[in-house]
Amino acid sequence: MLDRRHILAALGTTALAALAPTALFAATSIKPDDTSALLVIDVQNCFLPGGSLAVKEGEQVVPVINKIAKAFSNVVMTQDWHTPGHVSFASVHSGKKPFETIDLPYGKQVLWPDHCVQGTDGAALSRDLAIPHAELIIRKGFHKDVDSYSAFLEADGKTSTGLAGYLKGRKIKRIFVAGLATDFCVAWTALDARKAGFEVYVVEDACRGIDTQGSLAKAWADMAKAGVKRIQSADIAVSA
Ligand SMILES: [Zn+2]
Repeated sequence: MLDRRHILAALGTTALAALAPTALFAATSIKPDDTSALLVIDVQNCFLPGGSLAVKEGEQVVPVINKIAKAFSNVVMTQDWHTPGHVSFASVHSGKKPFETIDLPYGKQVLWPDHCVQGTDGAALSRDLAIPHAELIIRKGFHKDVDSYSAFLEADGKTSTGLAGYLKGRKIKRIFVAGLATDFCVAWTALDARKAGFEVYVVEDACRGIDTQGSLAKAWADMAKAGVKRIQSADIAVSA
């Protein structure tokens, strides 16, 4: 049987020197290929500083996303896209305040300040995103009586946005998720992507969370349990 010494001897010093850096690099760096897609979740004015539902440090994800997007031939962006008077808005439930919870026919719903109303400037994607090669923008939450954190399924758990079909039709197997907010739209998207059979990575430093009632820790725990891989932007190989 060949042991390590025999293999080293057989390879010779020159071959080893050529091999070692590549092998080390491959162990720590992820190189997106044509079967990989970056999903950029809800980087919209309402979720950025000055917006009606601003995520703390939300603007800090933009340069990180712009950088990693260069490593992807496939980029899909999402846009939260609500009707006026949407069921997820606290303002339409008398006596309720933002961040309180109510029971709706499809389950518990956190109530939010009015945000991302169709066609408004608040619903527009950040002007600082620089991803001209993004190939699809998928809008979600446009049914007045159903919210949709996930880019795949609305909050009723059964109405599809069509994204899984699109990605499968494009032969995508690996999904990388970035954007806002980690504990809601990013996490729900990542969990549904797992359920749809994709290999899923969440790029932690390309996301920021809202963290209401322990939601951020719970989201990471749920994602870990579902087999979502938690990585950093530096783990992705971006060629200069
Ligand atoms: Zn929303």
